Amino acid sequence: MLKIRKAYKVQLKTNNNIENKLVRYCGSARFLWNKCLALNLDRLEKKQPILWYNELAFWLTVWKRSEEYGFLKECPSQVLQQKLKDLERAFRDCFDKSQPLKRVPVFKKRGLNDGIRFPQGFKIVGRRIFLPKIGWIGFYKSCTVSGKIKNITVSRKGDRWYASIQVEQMIEIGKHASDSEIGIDAGVICFAAFSDGTMINGVHSFRKHEYRLAREQRKLSRMEQGSNNWKKQKRKIAKLHHTIANVQSDFLHKLSTEVSENQAKVYVERLQVRNMSASAKGTIEEPGRNVKAKSGLNKSILDQGWFEFRRQLDYKLFWMGGMLAEVNPRHTSQRCSCCGHTAKENRVSQDVFRCQVCGHEENADVNAAKNILTVGQTEMIACQANRISGRQQEPAGTRKEVLPVAS
Ligand SMILES: [Zn+2]
Repeated sequence: MLKIRKAYKVQLKTNNNIENKLVRYCGSARFLWNKCLALNLDRLEKKQPILWYNELAFWLTVWKRSEEYGFLKECPSQVLQQKLKDLERAFRDCFDKSQPLKRVPVFKKRGLNDGIRFPQGFKIVGRRIFLPKIGWIGFYKSCTVSGKIKNITVSRKGDRWYASIQVEQMIEIGKHASDSEIGIDAGVICFAAFSDGTMINGVHSFRKHEYRLAREQRKLSRMEQGSNNWKKQKRKIAKLHHTIANVQSDFLHKLSTEVSENQAKVYVERLQVRNMSASAKGTIEEPGRNVKAKSGLNKSILDQGWFEFRRQLDYKLFWMGGMLAEVNPRHTSQRCSCCGHTAKENRVSQDVFRCQVCGHEENADVNAAKNILTVGQTEMIACQANRISGRQQEPAGTRKEVLPVAS
């Protein structure tokens, strides 16, 4: 049996009174986050150690008593404390070398990812949620919440408010139903290429929304700021953002579920962005140099559905008794999956691979995915042999990294 955490998201039936409170509490939480973040970024620039939760919580009590920031008193204390914990976590993650994708925390903007979390004091009865200092709120029931409720996060997307109910459940992990394996490459042209030849083109379905978004944003830029039309256009754009996020989320979840149900082992390349982001952040002892300048750069590299897809694959496979393994990415795009000849010249163009020795021709991403599968399989054998002879333990946890073999 394994303890897992899972979240249910439901839409809230809010009224003006509730919305007013939620907006104000979200505002206070956002204000606190931004104030503490600014404080810490300033300290990083001056090469001073940053303030962690305990110090920030102390300052919070001081601010609450002041005239200037007295409005913080109105917001439930736990909600503010949770924001400070989130900020601490964000800083710890960004200094953590084993999490290369984590960036320096950023300022929160009004109406964008607004959310507050209640760690206790809530109740759920039927189709109603009770939240401290807010009261009872109805919700649209889309699923039955089961498990022990750990916390509830209320957030806004466009005009709607949602509650994300996090629960703890015990699940049993058995053996995966299938024993098939597959290699997956992040495609250059397509979203992903599989070693069985499947190409997933999902990314293109976002394009039309993206074009629309760009068009609507151009329209907005021509409008008089603060005017009624401008406000209307702003709402339209927020809605569009929401749609795009939903389309992408649906796509990724469907794909990762399908793959993790059908494949027991999935091989992907180890991420190669590690060096870039690790060096940008420095360490806790020696806070980063040029933190501000570099955090922007990493975003463009990392902000892609591919990473979310890997994350989902990792935990879904684990739940189903399968596994996601990372392989050494060296030469996977230049090696011929047929004869093994490795040369830069094999890569004729972005999407065509043609072996200079045996003449094997294939989509370049599929060829790479086949190589990833082969590398994964050979390295797994090496790994298992080591384990049997007792020299090496496989790393614990959800993701098992395949160690590169000496060649
Ligand atoms: Zn060849």
